[in-house]
Amino acid sequence: MNILITGLPGSGKGTQSELINDFYNIGHLSTGNVFRNQIQNETSLGKELASYMNEGKLVPDELTISILKEEIKLEKYSTGFLLDGFPRTIAQAEFLDQMLADENTKLDLVLELVIDENVIIDRITKRQVCPECGATYHMTSIPSKVEGICDKCGSALIQREDDTVEKVATRLSVAKEQTVPVINYYKEQNIVTTITMDVTDSASEVFENIKKAIDGINNN
Ligand code: AMP
Repeated sequence: MNILITGLPGSGKGTQSELINDFYNIGHLSTGNVFRNQIQNETSLGKELASYMNEGKLVPDELTISILKEEIKLEKYSTGFLLDGFPRTIAQAEFLDQMLADENTKLDLVLELVIDENVIIDRITKRQVCPECGATYHMTSIPSKVEGICDKCGSALIQREDDTVEKVATRLSVAKEQTVPVINYYKEQNIVTTITMDVTDSASEVFENIKKAIDGINNN
């Protein structure tokens, strides 16, 4: 089963991806996480990636695709994957379709998470992430049990460089401009399930709706 989870930055993709990964045991491939690992390891590729990411800009398609191509070869994605943050442009979507067609497979489901933009700003600027295992927290609504420490692996939590009010504004406008056409691209293929979230919905309530969409595919 190959799934793409999409939505504006801060729509809950990371949190829901963890829940999907835990429940369905499907390899979570977040290009943002892969890029941040490179940056953390201080590779020369990491430096190049940071120059785009720290400005809230998209990494160019050619570079993004070349990294994705290597990552997706890993064993953990061999029985299917949950893509998060890729594709973000039509060129990336066309590449993905072609790559999957070459392997006689396809994308089975696109989950589109929709939430009010005012909620997004609050979520992103109060977000904390674990640099080791990728777990995501929110300082007030989903705090870690011990302040600043990851519940899952005990590492010190960080705030992402691009999670500031100014950078969020750029990321939202970039996302709307480039990602909306990608969602429309998949809507034409009739594989999109849109999950509209209310501000009061808990992560587990949203996940129940996601499960219905995934189980619907599995039962077909
Ligand atoms: P994310 O963790 O998905 O919010 O991604 C963080 C940043 O990584 C984005 O703001 C982009 O700079 C970069 N990035 C991640 N995925 C992609 C992609 N598919 N194409 C281009 N840039 C990306």
